[in-house]
Amino acid sequence: MERRPFIAGNWKMHLTLAEAVQLAQAVAPTCAACPDRDIMIAPSFTSLAAVCAAVKGSGLQVGAQNIAWDREGAYTGEISSPMLKDLGVSLAIIGHSERRHIFGEDNAMINRRLHGALDGDIRPILCIGETLADREAGKTFAVLDTQVREGLQAVNSAQMECVVLAYEPVWAIGTGKTASKEQAQEVHAFLRQLLAAMYEKTVAETVRILYGGSVKPDNIDDLMAQPDIDGALVGGAALKAESFDRIARFR
Ligand code: PEP
Repeated sequence: MERRPFIAGNWKMHLTLAEAVQLAQAVAPTCAACPDRDIMIAPSFTSLAAVCAAVKGSGLQVGAQNIAWDREGAYTGEISSPMLKDLGVSLAIIGHSERRHIFGEDNAMINRRLHGALDGDIRPILCIGETLADREAGKTFAVLDTQVREGLQAVNSAQMECVVLAYEPVWAIGTGKTASKEQAQEVHAFLRQLLAAMYEKTVAETVRILYGGSVKPDNIDDLMAQPDIDGALVGGAALKAESFDRIARFR
């Protein structure tokens, strides 16, 4: 089954407004050069409006780094789907390990956010991943099973067409330690089997599963050559136009 590759950059809490617009403009031309793949950047909330305006028409997709579960209400500090849609944002990263481990977001909250995205016509990128302690204790698959089942609670097969998964082992994020291509492929294959058990086989075959964790220009080609790796969620290397461009042009 052919799945359209997807390269996403997560800019986290980096870049001023002017820096964000400059980087977005530097990255945008990569889309015209690579029409066979989806490319997305996720700037901070404060830069979203200007970045969306700056890349309009280029094919570069803009995502948010999180999303609220309700459309409006008394939720200080939260940003909702209508607010994001208004700007031209089409995707949202949900359940990033930094949200889980620094800000205490659990699977139940992540599931609510995911429904908030789906209900508001924003495509969710659901991040999952085990810690080093989980891996060393032999719990990797059990942890991922729980994160996927609880994160996708009450999401039906039709909605799964909009969902992207991102496998990001916590021990590989921002550490310079990439999972080997074999380790990543093993988990991606497990996730596809899990989706087949939860939904129909076609869902498992069509959902895109990204790898994230110290993806760089020098490891992207090997990762993308794996049969179940459909793209990458890139942190540090997405902050330099040259390295993100090379990653997006994986061969
Ligand atoms: C991330 O933040 O999702 C990430 C994978 O970061 P890095 O590429 O820096 O490891």
